Amino acid sequence: MTYQNYSLKQLQQIDAAHHLHPFTDHKDLRDAGTRIVTHAKGPFIYDSEGNEILDGMAGLWCVNIGYGRDELAEVAAEQMKELPYYNSFFKCTVPTAALLAQKIASLAPKHINQVFFGSSGSESNDTALRIVRHYWALEGKPEKNRIISRKNAYHGSTVAGTSLGGMEGMHGQLGGAVPNIVHVMMPYAFELALPGESDHDFGLRAAKSIEDAILEAGPDKVAAFIGEPVMGAGGVKIPPASYWPEVQRICRKYDVLLMLDEVITGYGRTGNWFAAETFGVEPDTITTAKALTSGYLPLSALLVGDRIASTFIEKGGEFYHGYTYSGHPVCCAVGLRNLEIIEQEGLVERVRDDTGPYFAQALRERISPHPLVGETRSVGLMAAIEIVADKATRARFEPAGSAAVIVRDYAIANGMMMRATGDSMILSPPLIWTRDTIDLACDRILK
Ligand code: PLP
Repeated sequence: MTYQNYSLKQLQQIDAAHHLHPFTDHKDLRDAGTRIVTHAKGPFIYDSEGNEILDGMAGLWCVNIGYGRDELAEVAAEQMKELPYYNSFFKCTVPTAALLAQKIASLAPKHINQVFFGSSGSESNDTALRIVRHYWALEGKPEKNRIISRKNAYHGSTVAGTSLGGMEGMHGQLGGAVPNIVHVMMPYAFELALPGESDHDFGLRAAKSIEDAILEAGPDKVAAFIGEPVMGAGGVKIPPASYWPEVQRICRKYDVLLMLDEVITGYGRTGNWFAAETFGVEPDTITTAKALTSGYLPLSALLVGDRIASTFIEKGGEFYHGYTYSGHPVCCAVGLRNLEIIEQEGLVERVRDDTGPYFAQALRERISPHPLVGETRSVGLMAAIEIVADKATRARFEPAGSAAVIVRDYAIANGMMMRATGDSMILSPPLIWTRDTIDLACDRILK
């Protein structure tokens, strides 16, 4: 590797001189310096100082089959030699795009049979927004174009992704959002449930905020509701069991489409191929990316249900939307092999029947009793640990988020990669984690 001719210090200097990082305070970065991750194997990443770090985040919620899988490198090399690039514009396609679309459709809920490819979750949510609004226009209702989303949702970083998302800091820097998107409350019982309110009742109340927004705009003006089955970047907020069925009921009642953003939850994380199954909903679109290739190459897929697809096909007319890399042959080849590996190794079933329940138990029995922990929660291999100053009152440390950053830095120094989001610690490890890896993670978190 060419970088081995450079010292750590030189690489840091080059990075500081030329590289702007995503979601980063660049002044802080220049002062603190960067960690240079050089290689990775299985569940571990290694930095240029020789530290071995257990990756509790699967990169950025994506490396589901773990690092260093030669099969993916081999399939990418073969495809690059055979056909490095062609597109699906102008009545062409490439074999791997067709086969991957078929494969995804076979894993998706039965009423979903079409796939639109992009390169990232953000792009795929742009596509979803375009498709849903175009659907209503084709149905003769162009004014039915409002989208309901939730505060603190994360749907990506493009202008449309940021507008769909509900993160105030991001909106503040947008200088003008995509119009006709409104944000309602998030299903976050730990902070938002009223004293004495049951989880069940809280879930119904959170869902009712969607109905209120539909009625306020008028059902004829509302195209769709979009939500992550479990809010990820917003802090692994797992809704009460009552929430999603009620959201589905409300959407059906007012003929509002249901868009699930499964960029994190898709392809096994919650113990089913899609969290739609875990939470018992039938969405009209499912946005996926990340684990589709386990992050080895950039690829996203918007899954489009029969209702929308049949209108597109029957009514016809060009849909003016697409990306140069939609259905990229190498990315699709890697996606196909990745899904085969997940299937062959039974990773989805393993999360559902073994590691998911074991993870929940380990968090409950080992992490929850800690004096700084207000709550642990998980679904499949996706978890949050709430950091509090006072266990009984759930009072937080001041300023908000400061304690979680300290916990994160301690954890990394002890060989454990976790993420701090507000006052929550987040875990979303590769699906190859075993019971032993979960034990090791708990040891390192508590160190
Ligand atoms: N949607 C969700 C739920 C996400 O978590 C993310 C990224 O973390 C995105 C969309 C955006 O995906 P990308 O970063 O690939 O654009």
